[in-house]
Amino acid sequence: MLRPLGTSAYVLICDHASKRVPAELNSLGLGEAELSRHIGWDIGAAGVTEALSETFDATAVLCNTSRLVIDCNRQSDARDLIPEVSDGTVIPGNAGLSETDKAERVELYFRPYHDAIEAVLAEREARGALSILISIHSMNPTLGGESRPWQIAVSSYRDRSLADALLAALRELGDIKVGDNEPYDLDPRVDYSVPYHAMRRGLAHLQMEFRNDLIADERGQVEWARRFRDALDAARS
Ligand SMILES: [Zn+2]
Repeated sequence: MLRPLGTSAYVLICDHASKRVPAELNSLGLGEAELSRHIGWDIGAAGVTEALSETFDATAVLCNTSRLVIDCNRQSDARDLIPEVSDGTVIPGNAGLSETDKAERVELYFRPYHDAIEAVLAEREARGALSILISIHSMNPTLGGESRPWQIAVSSYRDRSLADALLAALRELGDIKVGDNEPYDLDPRVDYSVPYHAMRRGLAHLQMEFRNDLIADERGQVEWARRFRDALDAARS
């Protein structure tokens, strides 16, 4: 967790921040190159989250386990919670897991992350602090051979109040293509983190996608955090 005493209304979360696979899982049978691809984590998303935490003085909770171990943005009964195949790559360490194995993954790697977010939001609620949840993801520039034209995208569901204002502010920047529920929407039947932590509490929220080729290094992460901050400031002014 970053800046647990952050003064900002924003609370940042990053479900796919890390490509770490705990030693006891033996790299899930994959090599370092596979684990470092976008299937293992959201490339660059942790750096953007850290830059935003700093610029806003905002509390940030970053998951520290690869989504190949367990996807912290999936419902606990989702088929791809512990993926056996991800974007064409077979994950040997996830094949044929028993219900006990799966429950252990949930207990060890899913629950602690969500408990940490829950604790932050509950504590803020108890002292009457406003919280706006911002979930940071990154997307691959291509999927299934198709390239994605959007540099940044907002995924929303029914409450579009903040999403619409941010989309307008991002478009004002003029030089970028902004995705509105493209390539991904926010779906409470599929996504877990924002529905569980923000919608359930009635908190304003954003779920963001940054294209990972633009935020692969620190310079890009800082640059895109700045663009997002400027647009968000404009959206809320
Ligand atoms: Zn993600």
